[in-house]
Amino acid sequence: MHDVISPVDEQVVATVPSLTEAETDAAIERAHAAFATWRAVSPGDRARLLRRFAAVVDAHNEELAQLEVRNAGHTIGNARWEAGNVRDVLDYYAGAPERLSGRQIPVAGGLDVTFYEPLGVVGVIVPWNFPMPIAGWGFAPALAAGNTVVLKPAELTPLTAIRIGELALEAGLPKDVLTVLPGKGSIVGQRFVTNPLVRKVCFTGSTEVGKRIMAGCAEQVKRVTLELGGKSSNIVFADADLARAAASAPGSVFDNAGQDCCARSRLLVQASVYDEFMALLEQSVKAFRCEDPSLESAQMGPLISAGQRDSVRSYVDDSAVAFRGSAPEGPGYWMAPTVLTAASARDRHWREEIFGPVLSVLPFADEEEAVRLANDTEYGLSGSIWTRDLGRGIRVARGVETGALSVNSHSSVRYWTPFGGVKQSGLGRELGPDAVAAFCEVKNVFFSTEV
Ligand code: NAD
Repeated sequence: MHDVISPVDEQVVATVPSLTEAETDAAIERAHAAFATWRAVSPGDRARLLRRFAAVVDAHNEELAQLEVRNAGHTIGNARWEAGNVRDVLDYYAGAPERLSGRQIPVAGGLDVTFYEPLGVVGVIVPWNFPMPIAGWGFAPALAAGNTVVLKPAELTPLTAIRIGELALEAGLPKDVLTVLPGKGSIVGQRFVTNPLVRKVCFTGSTEVGKRIMAGCAEQVKRVTLELGGKSSNIVFADADLARAAASAPGSVFDNAGQDCCARSRLLVQASVYDEFMALLEQSVKAFRCEDPSLESAQMGPLISAGQRDSVRSYVDDSAVAFRGSAPEGPGYWMAPTVLTAASARDRHWREEIFGPVLSVLPFADEEEAVRLANDTEYGLSGSIWTRDLGRGIRVARGVETGALSVNSHSSVRYWTPFGGVKQSGLGRELGPDAVAAFCEVKNVFFSTEV
């Protein structure tokens, strides 16, 4: 058992079990047994069950949101959106079972057909920063394809996942089709990697752990999807709508207290408008409301833990602070949104994923330098470009090495479009129309016409 602490006031919110290796294996075996039943459920019935699951999650939106405010310190507005996102992905992928079809390929001497077949048990490993959506991005398409799922939430934030597991049963999903297994990464998560009954691991978390998971999966040639760290750029050109770009920049990095893999934690501003843009940005950062996350007005809550706050602070201690917003004193793991000016592209805060409310700023001269600076990182997950010049928007969007990008927007993840990273930000894509196929094997069968 272990205590779950609220980052808002440092109080114990709940005590949850921490599963052993033997308990994890037993759950994986039950999920394996349930696979035979679940894959045999007709596509129409599987779709109906997923839609009912979506409806039950929707009916508990407020309960799930309040739980996340308490457990993870998310603002109530964000938490409602996150529970709504689980509903949305379930609804979206409920459309898949009846549409997932293979091909008939012209061949001589018979009939050749491809089938999309589910893999078996899929292991979904979730980090603490977005416990609900990231769980849903894994389990919804996996279940739609006919797989069963074992889901490991992060030790710090297991509560909404545990509740969603209960709601799945309430919605009528057969037992052991979606099983939530709280516990340590090194025990429960590791068994997802090493137990051969788990046929695919969907991991979201740090690049460091992701590399170990990939190496472990290689032992069994196990399928793996990795959604890892990021250090994304927000590039503001002189011809952009500076007021709009400055108004939305704080949300693009301080949302979820900066604990967002898509955070635009690097700001590149064209030198000719640097002073003008920084003055606008200062106003919007100082107006950004870091406060009790249960307040409707809150835009940012605390960091997840004392350790995370101390790690983030270590980046700020010796750096040049341009300006900062405000934050409550404590108890709770609070830190004010902070803007740092980088002396050069070698600064530690410019290069490393901080995963906290810290924005690093660097001026650039021209388009070529902006693209070079944006690509000078081991990561490639997200980013934004602000310009009114369509040609420049297209050129820079094609030039930046990243899995997702938005132009004149800070939109990051939309469940109907593919999401994932390049370079050390990950491997494979989640969401979008192709996600269900990623939870299938393609089987090719040739039927001979010769008797
Ligand atoms: P983490 O890597 O420490 O842990 C993630 C999950 O992996 C947790 O559930 C943890 O218990 C489990 N785990 C840890 N060690 C394991 C092991 N040896 N075997 C199996 N499982 C193990 O990451 P975190 O600190 O929870 O999350 C923050 C990181 O996640 C950041 O780097 C962030 O950028 C990244 N992230 C990426 C995305 C994305 O979509 N690309 C989304 C959110 C977070």
